[in-house]
Amino acid sequence: MSVTKNISVLGATGSIGVNALNVVRSYPDLYRIKYLTAHSQADLLIEQALEFSPKAVSIGDANQYEKVKQALPEVEVLSGRNGLLELAGRDDVDTMLNALVGSAGMEPTIKSIQAGVDIALSNKESLVMAGDYINGLLKKYEVDLYPVDSEHSAIWQCLLGESPEDIKRLVVTGSGGPFRTLPIESFINITVDQALNHPNWAMGRKITIDSATMMNKGLEVIEARWLFHLPAEKIDIVIHPQSIIHSMVEFLDGSVKAQLGLPDMKIPIQYALSYPRHLKQDWEQLDLAKIGSLTFEAPDLKKFKCIQLAFDALEEGGSVPVVLNVANEEAVYRFLNEEISFNAIPELITKAIDAHEFVEHPELNDILALEQWTQAFIKRS
Ligand code: NDP
Ligand code: MG
Repeated sequence: MSVTKNISVLGATGSIGVNALNVVRSYPDLYRIKYLTAHSQADLLIEQALEFSPKAVSIGDANQYEKVKQALPEVEVLSGRNGLLELAGRDDVDTMLNALVGSAGMEPTIKSIQAGVDIALSNKESLVMAGDYINGLLKKYEVDLYPVDSEHSAIWQCLLGESPEDIKRLVVTGSGGPFRTLPIESFINITVDQALNHPNWAMGRKITIDSATMMNKGLEVIEARWLFHLPAEKIDIVIHPQSIIHSMVEFLDGSVKAQLGLPDMKIPIQYALSYPRHLKQDWEQLDLAKIGSLTFEAPDLKKFKCIQLAFDALEEGGSVPVVLNVANEEAVYRFLNEEISFNAIPELITKAIDAHEFVEHPELNDILALEQWTQAFIKRS
C-alpha cells in the first residue's frame, strides 16, 4: 500500500471518529483527511481540522458556524443537515468512514454510494433501516462497503477465501452487557448510570444503552443479514463475556472459524481502511495466557426482549426494521433523559411497530416518512 487514500470522516468527534483519526494519525503517508463533520462539538472539530488540514468541514449545529469559520479561515466550512449531506456526496475521496450515530447516518451512506465512493461503515443503523435498498445501490454504482462493527469485521475476515454456499451459519458474539447476570426482577430499577457502565467497550452513549438492552445484538443480526446476504435462520447469537472472539462462521463440514483480538475498535476501523492489509501497530496485543479462559452461554431472550423484537422485525421485513430502529433510538434518548424506565424501551418499540402502517417494499421516501412518524410517535407515547 503506497498510494495515499483520501478519506472523509462523518461523525469525526464521536467515539469511532476519534479512534479513526488515531489510526489515520499513525499512517500519515497512507491516509489524507479530506472532509470532517461534527454535530455539536465545534471545539473538537476545530482542533481536528487544525491537525489534519481537511479541504472542508461541516458542523451540524448551524449556530456554531461562525465560530468554526473564524477559527478555520483556510477551510471551507458548511453547516446543518445540508452541509453533512453535501460533504457525504462529494466524489473526490476514496473512502467515506460513516461514524455517525443513529438514523441520521442513513442518507449520508446513500449519498456516498451515489457518488461512487467506497464506504467504511460503522453506522449500522443505515443497513438496519435500508439494507435491501443500499445493497441495490452498491451493485448499481459498483461501490464496496467494508464493515467497521467488530462482529461484522470478524465475519468478513472469516469469510475471506470461502465459498458462500459452504456457510452453515454465522455466530455473532456479544458480551451480554452490564446486566447479563442481573435478575429480571431488578430491571425495573436500572438507572442511566448503571446502563452506561459497559464492562468491556468504551463507546458513545446510544450504542452503550443498546448494549445494555442488547438491542445492539439485534441490530447487528439485521446488519449481518444485509452485509452477508444470509437469512435470519442462518444467524445466531452467542454470549461471550470476555469480548475476545469477535464473531465466528460455521461451515457445512462442521469447521468453525473465529476472529480474535482485544476489544479495541481501532483494530476493525484500521482494517476497514487498510484492507486487504493488516498494518503494524504498537497498541496492546492479545495475550491469551493472560486472559486464561473464554466462556460462552446462550442469550436470555426473556430478559433481553429487544433481541427477539429484532429477529421478529427481520422476519416480518418491509417497514418493520425501520420502525424498530427509529423507535429504539428515540426510546433510548428518552431513557437517557430519565423520562422513561429501562423496561419501557422494548415496550415503546413494540407499540410503535404495532401502530405503524406496514409497507412491504419501502422506497427511500417511505423510509424517511416512517422515520418522522416513528420519532413523533415515541415522543408522544
Ligand atoms: P458517538 O455518539 O460517540 O458519535 C456520534 C458522532 O455523530 C459524533 O461525531 C456526533 O457529533 C455525530 N452526530 C450525532 N448526532 C448527529 C446528527 N443528528 N447528525 C449528524 N451527526 C451527528 O457514537 P459512536 O462513535 O459510539 O457510534 C457511531 C456509530 O458506530 C453508531 O452507529 C454505533 O452503533 C456504531 N458503532 C460504535 C462502536 C463504538 O465502539 N463506539 C462500535 C461498533 C459500532 P458531536 O459529537 O459533535 O455532537
Ligand atoms: Mg458491534
